[in-house]
Amino acid sequence: MLPEFLNDRSDARSRSTATDFKPWLVMGAVGVSLALNLGLAVRLGLSGGSEPVPAPVVAVEPAAPEAAPAINVIGDDTTVANAATPPDQVPPLPAPLGAAATAGSHVYHGVVQSSISATFTGVTDTSAAALSAVYTRLFAWDLDMRRDLHRGDLVSVLFEQPVGQEPLVLAARFTSQAGSPSEHVYSAYRWQAPGDRFPSYWAPDGTEVPKRLVAGPLEEYEQVTSLLKDRPTHAGMDFKTPIGTPVQAPRAGVVTRINWNQPSNGGCVELRFQDGVLAKFLHLNESLVKEGQSVAAGTVFAKTGNTGHSTGAHLHYQLERAGRVVDPIEYHGTLRRQLQPDVMARFASETKSLEAQLIGQVAQR
Ligand SMILES: [Zn+2]
Repeated sequence: MLPEFLNDRSDARSRSTATDFKPWLVMGAVGVSLALNLGLAVRLGLSGGSEPVPAPVVAVEPAAPEAAPAINVIGDDTTVANAATPPDQVPPLPAPLGAAATAGSHVYHGVVQSSISATFTGVTDTSAAALSAVYTRLFAWDLDMRRDLHRGDLVSVLFEQPVGQEPLVLAARFTSQAGSPSEHVYSAYRWQAPGDRFPSYWAPDGTEVPKRLVAGPLEEYEQVTSLLKDRPTHAGMDFKTPIGTPVQAPRAGVVTRINWNQPSNGGCVELRFQDGVLAKFLHLNESLVKEGQSVAAGTVFAKTGNTGHSTGAHLHYQLERAGRVVDPIEYHGTLRRQLQPDVMARFASETKSLEAQLIGQVAQR
């Protein structure tokens, strides 16, 4: 079940570059991190770490199309390193926040000694491999967990374990080079922004943690579960999204094929963009176009599904130029959304108990 990239291939490298392990350094690092966390808690006006998770948003409403945007968009062409989930083995969609009966939330903290997967071996409330994979996928937009780890880095995660599903991360933090002048803290809180159909993950400054394709095939989706670079055998990018999500043409083009190789692809559509790039959309529930038909950019031409060789509702999006696979991240470029100032207070208010739980458990250790 463990995705290939999470195997301990990073061990040799980190062992050769890390200095000797110094426990006092780690303790100091924990202290510094604690101080930082407590400082943040004070800024957020927290009184302690014992607050329960707030009753989360349950209703899933479609975004109001013409509503005033709650979110800014910042262009960003940074490429992506890694994410989890093997090809088309998409985990089931978690129930909407708060709707699932769970045994409550759990907190895990780890200090990096070698690989990220080894850092999670102490997890008792869920599968260590699964939590490591979800955590790695969450921060993959900024961190390559094979390349960017240092001994003594700190890992913190607040999560639920819905029955039969992968762990649901509510809050997570990665402290790189803790206690050193180069310390950098990455934080992510699960939160549903106004107008969004799904919760996402946001940094304390209101920046969305996962990046998005510029003019991608889906207006809304739950999350990217597989990137092209994850595995050489997987030629596309996977978006986990409920069956029936509208798929739009990222560029103007012509429909070149429909429903070929259905045992594997399921319902599928191939478009040839005007620049000659072929775009394949697999595992569809419904196609709304015919072969030879021209589609304008932005035209909804299909609905997502879970057909063919697919273990969960998602869209597989694949690009090829002259027979060679192209990374959608590079072809499209990426952007990062930013919460507007007028929703920041609500964001901070609604995520402060997540922060408190993450911190509170640190303080007890
Ligand atoms: Zn795929």
